[in-house]
Amino acid sequence: MTRRVGITSTIPVEVVLAAGDVPVDLNNVFISDPDPSRFIRYAEEAGYPRNICGWVKGLFGLVMSTRCVDTVIALTQGDCSSTLALVETLMVNDVPVIPFEYPFARDRDVLHLQVEKLARALDTSMSAAQQWVEKLQPLRDKLSEIDRLTWREGVVSGGENDAFLTSASDFEGSVQRFERKVDDFLARARSRGPISAEARIGYIGVPPIWNDFYEFIELQGAHVVFNEMQRQFSMPFDSPDIVDRYIAYTYPYGVFPRLVDIEAAISERALDGLIHYTQSFCFRQIEDLIFRKKLLLPILTLEGDQPGPLDGRTKLRINAFIEMIRKKRTECSTSLPVQGQWLPSNTGKDL
Ligand code: SF4
Repeated sequence: MTRRVGITSTIPVEVVLAAGDVPVDLNNVFISDPDPSRFIRYAEEAGYPRNICGWVKGLFGLVMSTRCVDTVIALTQGDCSSTLALVETLMVNDVPVIPFEYPFARDRDVLHLQVEKLARALDTSMSAAQQWVEKLQPLRDKLSEIDRLTWREGVVSGGENDAFLTSASDFEGSVQRFERKVDDFLARARSRGPISAEARIGYIGVPPIWNDFYEFIELQGAHVVFNEMQRQFSMPFDSPDIVDRYIAYTYPYGVFPRLVDIEAAISERALDGLIHYTQSFCFRQIEDLIFRKKLLLPILTLEGDQPGPLDGRTKLRINAFIEMIRKKRTECSTSLPVQGQWLPSNTGKDL
């Protein structure tokens, strides 16, 4: 029987596919629901505290109220302590859970063991999962092409980039169907003219909980040409080995591998500024001070809490940030060899 396997974050999805199961990224199902807040209300009514991340409550409410998956693979290391408590509350409600851990020290042998254990738990093997790495490569290459068309050709919007790269965690439940969708999109995107924008923005942090974030940014005349974590979810790495791929993946291993990845993007994609999204009640908010210390670009830090549209204050802050970047670019334009590459005098300062 084909099982629907829920995931709480990106895991080696090749193992799920090798087992003949359907991966379901619970985050994607939660946030694309017409009324995602209902899952948060469900969790709060079940006893979840108000001051817990909306994603965790949303995932709990989704699984418990819809029973949309047969089992859940949960990250018990490499995500956050709230996810750990989520797992425990699912287990106590008789939801079958398979734990998976990314070793914090990025130890290859430990990760190899974890992937093997996952394969055993799903009644498949490392070699079958390895074959899926090769089968998925053409699709992963197409996702990298969507990313390239975003930052280099400027014909893909930040929101489209976000949607396709985020979907790579579970391929929307069907690799074949998703690949056809990607093919159709690529054909359309290649025939477009470039987006006209006065600021090139990098987005760092977990995907936004708001439903109009990218649309609003682009209405202000800016183009999001780097979605940090979404790009990581698409596994744009060269290694043919399944373990090496998930060692290259930065998300589970703390802030420092992320910094290296973000710095490379700042330079390659000629970013003018960064928007750091943080989720209310998430430990990753603390990492903002590291980004401000280490990254040589203006940073706007935003905090989201509930699903839905942007609030007025956040819109004002985004608007002022983009306006500041636009002015800087105008001031620096005479001395700039390449649009977007300038060293700001107010490095790391927020508005
Ligand atoms: S946003 Fe933060 S607190 Fe919420 S699930 Fe992700 S890592 Fe955990």
